[in-house]
Amino acid sequence: MDAKTQGLSTRCVHAGEGHDAHGSPHTPTYTTTTFAFPSTAALLDVVEGRASGSLYTRYGFNPTVRALEAKLASLENAEAALAFSSGMGAESALFLAHGRRGVICLGDAYGGTLEMLTEQLPQLGIRTALLLGHEMDRLDVLLAAGYGLVFLETPTNPVLEIFDIAAIAARAHVHGARLAVDNTFASPVNQQPLSLGADLVVHSATKYLGGHSDLTAGAIMGSRELIEPVFGWRKNLGTTPSPETCALLSRSLRTLVVRVRQQNANAQRIAEALVRHPRVRRVLFPGLPGFPGHPMAARQMAGFGGMVTIEVDGGTAQTAAVVDRLRLFAIAPSLGGVESLATQPVTTTHHGLSEGERARRGITGGMIRLSVGLEDAEDLIGDLEQALG
Ligand code: PLP
Repeated sequence: MDAKTQGLSTRCVHAGEGHDAHGSPHTPTYTTTTFAFPSTAALLDVVEGRASGSLYTRYGFNPTVRALEAKLASLENAEAALAFSSGMGAESALFLAHGRRGVICLGDAYGGTLEMLTEQLPQLGIRTALLLGHEMDRLDVLLAAGYGLVFLETPTNPVLEIFDIAAIAARAHVHGARLAVDNTFASPVNQQPLSLGADLVVHSATKYLGGHSDLTAGAIMGSRELIEPVFGWRKNLGTTPSPETCALLSRSLRTLVVRVRQQNANAQRIAEALVRHPRVRRVLFPGLPGFPGHPMAARQMAGFGGMVTIEVDGGTAQTAAVVDRLRLFAIAPSLGGVESLATQPVTTTHHGLSEGERARRGITGGMIRLSVGLEDAEDLIGDLEQALG
């Protein structure tokens, strides 16, 4: 059977796996930094690109790194993928390779991404522009001014705004710009940006791809032509992940589909239960029919994800008291792991923003962002109900 026609679960288990002479069911971990050659001619074949053998692990020329990258590419239906030592490592290389004509960020994004776009890339002379969802009418003007890369997350953090990937890709392409989508929140199980017209996908693999809150990694997927220029930046920024991390991430990816589908189902149950709760003012979740992004999410997503944001009746301090009463949900940033986490965006992801900027982004003191894990949904709902009092 052609690997391209296999289902996502099959590819999660088998894509990229290499079997050794001892019959290992998956790629062994090559904890080596360098590789020996039978001759100088054989070494030069790899150094000069005529053969794709192993050479030096920081280059990614290591069988464990390559096995992971073949799996990552397959999961996003991409020609090629590069693995990174963190999500920010992936984004740095993305912006340096493809953002030099200017980067437009649509909607809210992870705090580190916003810091890089507003404070760091401009220091290198790279222009950046940040547009929120209601400012989309300015997109074409910026594209006409020659910005070369549009970057967005969908669903966004923490308000789970949904952007129309196909429509934005078309608008970018009219002007010769590229669209890169941070697919961390959705995961390839719920959303396939490349199939919708995006040019590149980036992930914090620390989240759903890793899925167990025990590794830090990142990834970029796309066509061979667009991944090629990213390779040199990764090589010399030195942000290739270790073979041990690659092996751990490959291990995690084998269960990605079952984990994410269960997290989707748990999140849906929680969202539906909390919508009726008297202390909950709003539930932001793309799977609720009344949520503004629901119709778009239903069109472009295969599942609505495991992230739920609720807004309780109260300010920052009263909301912190609710969070502090949680027993099963841990009070922690990050997301996508098997264990459920709760965080107030005002104390973590959006802590550094001014009051006014938070208001502009619709982030309030009453918000609690839930990363729903794999516990029983009844237990999670019970925990939230007792904390809400
Ligand atoms: N993208 C998103 C959506 C994130 O939530 C994060 C981290 O929280 C990142 C990128 C950065 O990833 P990492 O922490 O692996 O560098």
